Amino acid sequence: MTTAINTPGVPGRDGSGQPNGLDVIDPYRIRQDFPILDQQVNGKPLVYLDNAATTQKPLAVIDAISSYYLHNNANVHRGVHTLSQRATDDYEAGREAVRRFINAPDANEVIYVRGTTEGLNLVASSYGRKYFKAGDEVIITGMEHHSNIVPWQILGKEIGIRLRVVPFNDDGELLMDEYEAMLNDRTRMVSVVHQSNALGTVNPIPEMVELAHARGIPVMVDAAQSIPHMPVDVQALGADFLTFSGHKMYGPTGIGALWGRAELLDDMPPYQSGGEMIRSVTFEETIYNTLPHKFEAGTPDIAGAIGLGAAVEYLESIGMERIAAYEQALLRYGTEKLGDIEGVRLIGTAEEKGGVLSFYMEAAHPHDIGTILDSEGIAVRTGHHCAQPVMARYEIPATVRASLAFYNTTDDIDALVKAIDRVIEVFG
Ligand code: PMP
Repeated sequence: MTTAINTPGVPGRDGSGQPNGLDVIDPYRIRQDFPILDQQVNGKPLVYLDNAATTQKPLAVIDAISSYYLHNNANVHRGVHTLSQRATDDYEAGREAVRRFINAPDANEVIYVRGTTEGLNLVASSYGRKYFKAGDEVIITGMEHHSNIVPWQILGKEIGIRLRVVPFNDDGELLMDEYEAMLNDRTRMVSVVHQSNALGTVNPIPEMVELAHARGIPVMVDAAQSIPHMPVDVQALGADFLTFSGHKMYGPTGIGALWGRAELLDDMPPYQSGGEMIRSVTFEETIYNTLPHKFEAGTPDIAGAIGLGAAVEYLESIGMERIAAYEQALLRYGTEKLGDIEGVRLIGTAEEKGGVLSFYMEAAHPHDIGTILDSEGIAVRTGHHCAQPVMARYEIPATVRASLAFYNTTDDIDALVKAIDRVIEVFG
């Protein structure tokens, strides 16, 4: 049975007067930074609960991008003219903002990429081709996004490496004993998602890193879903590579970052080649540029990098600790509310999890549920969420996924619950 989580008129207190954490942030104030949220969809106020797919962009990000195009547009690192210098300064300021945000030791270790997918491909391709040989093993987990499966699989076919997969329990928690038993002399890399997009599970990265490092094995972290929702500190995690996408952290699409330890990146061959990544070129030989330029061939997404820097500053102005605390409170609220609806089965009930409410209903196919929710103005994702092995593990075709951001409110959850009641009315 639900205990009323909000006492009307007393934000931040539950029905018994206890603190519920929902007053850490004022989401109604925050929403003013996101004009897109203030609109009607299908005649109903928009309830945007598809944040794991992509987040909305605050005015600070939109303004930073338009200001670059209005005032400073030029190519970076090439011109001595003023606009080029301004563009270069802003582009590099974005890199420094990312460094600070993830507490990386050095901005040269931060490489701009298109997003998480490219970060993972870069490491698999560059590190893997240099260091892996037939018979080697790469460990991933059963809850990876396809972008942390397929690059290793393709490499595996080419070189003859074996992919080992750490299983998880019914709640969506990794079986750490099995992970430990998988690490061996043939393991060349562990590549693991920090927070699962399909289940919300937050994996114990420091523990996984410690076990891998004890055997000299590097660890790559897919932080696509963790970086928008909690403090991510590469030094505290202890990982060797970490990658994420700008568009899931309130920044633009087409930009993200890969962080790696300088000593590893220095020894890796370029991923793509052409302009910018060279120091000198003759027809006989090319000397590569230093980090980070060695991995940034061609004209980069300059506006994207500037927008990413603005997104970082925006998140810093609110504070990642506060964001995490608020979203956890909202997740508790949503979990309790959805848990009360008969016929709704939550998929992903790990002890440590982020703001993802994935669910399945026998009564209706997830796509039909999604369509009804859309008619109520509610945006959720339905499908396999690019994590088909997760669906196979639960023997379901797809889920409906409501994913939270700090601009979501308890009203949004209440609207979702009401719309699910409507689904039940329609499908019985
Ligand atoms: N990993 C995870 C956990 C994700 O959720 C996503 C995006 N859904 C990706 C990787 C891929 O990110 P992108 O499409 O931005 O490259």
